[in-house]
Amino acid sequence: MTPDEKPTEPLTETLARLLPNIHDQWRLLVAERASRVVAASNDASAFSPLAGLLTDLARLIERSSSPEQVRAAVEERLSDVLRYMRILEEQFELQTADVVFCLNTLRLALSSTLSGIVRDSHSDNGREAGPNLRLEDLQRMDMLLGRLAAVIADTNIQVHVARHPQEQTLALEYALLYERTRQLAITDSLTELYNFGYFWDRLKEERARAERYQRLLSLVLVDIDHFKQYNDQNGHPAGNEILKRISRIMSEESREVDIVARYGGEELVVLSPESNRRHAFLLAERIRQRIADTLFPFRQSQPGGRLTVSAGVATYPVDADTEESLVHCADQALYAAKGRGRNTVSAHAPIQKFTLALRPYRPTTSVALVGNFNAWDPKADLMQQMPDGTFSFEIALNPGIYRYKFVLDGQEWLADANSERQPDNFGGENNILRVRRE
Ligand code: GH3
Ligand code: MG
Ligand code: MG
Repeated sequence: MTPDEKPTEPLTETLARLLPNIHDQWRLLVAERASRVVAASNDASAFSPLAGLLTDLARLIERSSSPEQVRAAVEERLSDVLRYMRILEEQFELQTADVVFCLNTLRLALSSTLSGIVRDSHSDNGREAGPNLRLEDLQRMDMLLGRLAAVIADTNIQVHVARHPQEQTLALEYALLYERTRQLAITDSLTELYNFGYFWDRLKEERARAERYQRLLSLVLVDIDHFKQYNDQNGHPAGNEILKRISRIMSEESREVDIVARYGGEELVVLSPESNRRHAFLLAERIRQRIADTLFPFRQSQPGGRLTVSAGVATYPVDADTEESLVHCADQALYAAKGRGRNTVSAHAPIQKFTLALRPYRPTTSVALVGNFNAWDPKADLMQQMPDGTFSFEIALNPGIYRYKFVLDGQEWLADANSERQPDNFGGENNILRVRRE
C-alpha cells in the first residue's frame, strides 16, 4: 500500500473485511480500538493510512509461517510507517514531536510483540507463531493498537525535534534510546512489575481515556497478610522471594492490557481498563485463591498455616471520579477485607446510594440492572424481588450522567416508563439518571 492509496470505507469495515480468519474476539477488540482512533480525530480519514498499515501488518502476521518471517515483514513496513507519519504531519498539522512519538511507540510495541511471539514459540509449551497465532499473541497486538490510540488522542508529548529531515533521523534514534532508558526507569527491580511512578502515570492516562469515551476502569489493590510476621520469622530475603512469586502470579492472572505494578512495600496493584466491578472482583478472587493454594516455603509458620493476601476493588466512575479517590476507595475496601479476617476480597461500598426498582408488567423470574456503570453486563447487578413483585437494587453512583435499562429473564431489555428516557441508537430507549454533586 502506498501513501497515496487512501481507503475510503470505514475503518472498522476495512478491518472486518481484511481479517476474516482471525479469532472473532480479537476482531471485535480491534474494531473497537480502531473506532476509538477514529473518534480521537475530528476527521476520520486522517488516520486511515495508518489504519491501513495496521491491517496490512495483521494480515502479514496471519499469513507468516515463522516468527522470522513476521519480523522481516514488519521491518519492511517500518519505512511505510515513517511515510504515513509524514503525511499525517503535513496534512493535519500534527507536531513533529507527536509524530515521532507515535512512530516510536508503534515500533517499540511491535518489537516487544514480536519478541514475545518468538519467545513463546521457542518455549516448550507448544504455542506457535504464524498462521496459528493464539489469542495471547493477538491480545498483544491489541495492546499495540490501544497504545497507539492513546498516543494519537493525547498529542501533547514533549520531545524536542528539529524540522530538518536529517535531524529527524537523529531525533528518532534519540527517541528510541530514550524509550529504552524509560523501560528501565519504569520497572521495579525486585518484582519486575511496573513501579509506582509508571502506575500513577497510566492511571491518570486511563482515567482520562475512560472519561472521554465513557468507559469503565477498575483497580485491584493487594496486600500480603501478616507479612511482617513472615519477615520476622524467615528473614527479609525469604520475604523478598514471596513478593517476587506473588508478583508473577498476579501478572499471570491478569490480562495483557492490565497494568500490574508495585504500589509500595508489599502492596501490589492491578489497573484494569474496561473492567466493571464484577470483572475486577473475579480477577481479585482468582489471584487470592491461587495464592492461598500455593505451597510457599515456610508457610506453616503463618497464621492458619498458609500465606494469603487480601484485596480491595474499586471502579471508575461508579465509586470515584479522580485518581486519588479511586485509590482511596480501593484502599478502604482492602481495609474492610483485612477487617473481615484476611484472605478475602472486598469491593468498595460507597455511601451515596440510589434504589432502582422495576415492577414488571408480566410474570418475571429474574431482573438485572445494566448500564454504562457496569458495561451493560447482565450478570453484574442482579436485582432482589420484593414481596409485592417489585424488583429492586441499591447502587451507589458518583456524580455523573448514567444510562441504564432492566433485563427481564435475561432476554427483554426494558426502560422504565416512569423515568426520564433517551433513545439509544439501537431502536430502543434508556433510562437516564443524573447524579449531581451534593
Ligand atoms: P496485614 O497486612 O495482614 O495487616 O499485616 P502485615 O504484617 O502485612 O502488616 P503491614 O502490611 O503493615 O506490614 C508490611 C510489612 O511488609 C512490613 C515489612 O516487613 C514488609 N515489607 C514491606 N516491603 C517489603 C520488601 O520489599 N521486602 C520484604 N521482605 N518485606 C517487605
Ligand atoms: Mg501493607
Ligand atoms: Mg500486609
